Amino acid sequence: MHQKDTDPVTIARALAWATSELQQGESPAVDSRVLLCAVLECQRTYLFTWPDKSLTSSQYSHFKNLIARRREGHPVAYLTGTREFWSLTLKVNESTLIPRPETELLVETALALALPDTASVCDLGTGTGAIALALKTEKPAWHLTGVDRISEALDLAAANAQLNGQLTVNWLLSHWFDAMAPANQFDLIVTNPPYVESDSEYLQQGDVRFEPASALTAGVDGLEDIRDIIQRAPDFLTSGGWLLIEHGYTQHESIKELFEERGFSGCQGIDDLNGLPRITLAQWRKS
Ligand code: GLN
Repeated sequence: MHQKDTDPVTIARALAWATSELQQGESPAVDSRVLLCAVLECQRTYLFTWPDKSLTSSQYSHFKNLIARRREGHPVAYLTGTREFWSLTLKVNESTLIPRPETELLVETALALALPDTASVCDLGTGTGAIALALKTEKPAWHLTGVDRISEALDLAAANAQLNGQLTVNWLLSHWFDAMAPANQFDLIVTNPPYVESDSEYLQQGDVRFEPASALTAGVDGLEDIRDIIQRAPDFLTSGGWLLIEHGYTQHESIKELFEERGFSGCQGIDDLNGLPRITLAQWRKS
């Protein structure tokens, strides 16, 4: 039987329409379901259980608007305003990078270090607060500081701390270490800084086009911020303190050199699931 335009739009029909609208994208069916759940404020199972339920006209126009923006390329996380990371649900907006699943490896690596029970830990360039908050949920006795130079990002991070069980993190507005008091001594500094080469073709495709360049790029070799961080971190590390950096898959050797030139020891790379080094860490020993 043919569907008439005047028939109420059911969940099944809305999804079929949206999936065909997003055909050129990477994940038309999943994106359609996630966006419809955001409109209906429901879980994904609801869509499968009630395919014949009708949308109200305002729900349908909201959904059509989201699908149109997704077709233009806007990331799903900016359209729904949330993203899952570790065990957290985080609010996101255009002021920050959308947390990536691969950054969970940074959290895992940090948790595997032998640190004091009440370690002082700093997340440099915290954005949504993802790393700081994931560490705080796992290690409630750690003292966390989350640093960002964008005040909207810190507002978002503070809101995310409240949303995920009122986690206590000290938020600091600072470009890397600029506004940090020298008295700060951390057992661990962890960072997912910008590290993409500024002329990388990768920036012209997909979701990254909508993310802030300040969170993505760092000079022609992508190492500008990492160089700065490695240079200045020793002033803010305890003896035996660690600096842990996420980076691109071709950057490990250069970062190892930077660590060694600066006098760090115990430098090691950590591979991701594809066997590529995406994290480099090293330890500072005060002489
Ligand atoms: N890993 C990110 C990406 O692939 C880049 C994030 C960053 O520069 N820290 O887009």
